[in-house]
Amino acid sequence: MKGKLKIAFYTFGCKLNFSEASSISSSFFDCDNYEIVNIYDQADIYVLNSCSVTANAEKKCIELIRRVRRQNSNAFIVVMGCFAQLKPDSIKSQYNVNIVLDNQNKYDLFDIIEKYRTGKEPEINLFDKKEVDFISSYSGSDRTRVFFKIQDGCDYNCSYCIVPKARGRSRSDNIEKTIEKLNVLAENPVKELVLTGVNIGDFGKRHNESFFELLKEISKIDNIQRLRISSIEPDLLEDDIIKLVAESSKIMPHFHIPLQSGSDKVLKEMKRKYDTRLFANKVYKIKELMPLACIAVDVIAGFPTETEDDFKKTVRFLENLPVSYLHVFKFSKRENTIAADMENVCKPYDKKIRSNTLKELSQNKLMAFYELNKCKEYDVLFENKASNGFISGYTPNYLKVKTPYKENLVNQLKKVYLREISDDIKYECDIL
Ligand code: SF4
Repeated sequence: MKGKLKIAFYTFGCKLNFSEASSISSSFFDCDNYEIVNIYDQADIYVLNSCSVTANAEKKCIELIRRVRRQNSNAFIVVMGCFAQLKPDSIKSQYNVNIVLDNQNKYDLFDIIEKYRTGKEPEINLFDKKEVDFISSYSGSDRTRVFFKIQDGCDYNCSYCIVPKARGRSRSDNIEKTIEKLNVLAENPVKELVLTGVNIGDFGKRHNESFFELLKEISKIDNIQRLRISSIEPDLLEDDIIKLVAESSKIMPHFHIPLQSGSDKVLKEMKRKYDTRLFANKVYKIKELMPLACIAVDVIAGFPTETEDDFKKTVRFLENLPVSYLHVFKFSKRENTIAADMENVCKPYDKKIRSNTLKELSQNKLMAFYELNKCKEYDVLFENKASNGFISGYTPNYLKVKTPYKENLVNQLKKVYLREISDDIKYECDIL
């Protein structure tokens, strides 16, 4: 096959997946043999970077495979990512996909597609490659915010989670190598860097280093203006990290901590490494040092062994805790996990009701958090797009603000005054 090929990419799932997809696809952007098109356009090649964290994530990927096949029955379709890692045979045989790439082979995507383009049969031996040490990546095209992968895999064994099977053991570069890469990245100034990984608090374990030490070093890079920590396990969120964030003008007072249940019995059955007491202590420590910090909390509704009483404990625990909002997930049964074989005392209807209750609680918490910030002044990093005549941005503590669009605000940090909360839960603000 000769000539320029149209190629479309689509990524499901977490920011880690996005940063990897961005790095993997960058060679195609730099190569004249390819034209990048939208996933919903007619293309010669479709690359789907999948997710497997819930059954719904897999379902969405299957729907997209079918859709792109309908768009072009002759297209060359590649599926990679966690779903591909876990169920390569069924994806290939059931959904008319040309190539499935596991989490090691996906980094060879460009060479594989080049072979296809030049008429050679790409040769892929799934699961032949040993787990690679660590391959870093970062999201590239958006200069407002860069997602930088510092860690991969997970050594925890939470009973509901399939991720360790898809991503392998916990691994990372050492601090020296990570900083080297960040210095190269920061040759073009970065307004905001978000550190991502599967279990980022585990960074450096194989090198006898720590996430805390890494944060201190990244804070010294002048060309990175703001730094955000993505989700971090409560048992790995050391007090030293909280103090460092409180003392730093660069690390944003914004935490994302997975709780999953407010019942200690359920936490044990989930094989989480903390109890509600530890979790509450972390939240109170943050609030003691940074009263206006944003704390987002993950919680699962309807774990198989969660009784009505367990659920009430979760609601009470969260009602009393000064957290800002919740990410609510309905329990999703994943094959080959411990929880998949547990006796299920939570019926689908209860799961739905519990999820809705938690979502309502989240909304109330969010409004209370926004109210707490009324009439405050903050530095806001504005994004790069307009929507309905407005431009949005985020405060350090992750409040979303908006103001009428002006080109000179794009990708800029500006001091603002938070005036009032709009119906779409954003702060209308005045630029100072
Ligand atoms: S910490 Fe638990 S929930 Fe998070 S990726 Fe590891 S096993 Fe999964």
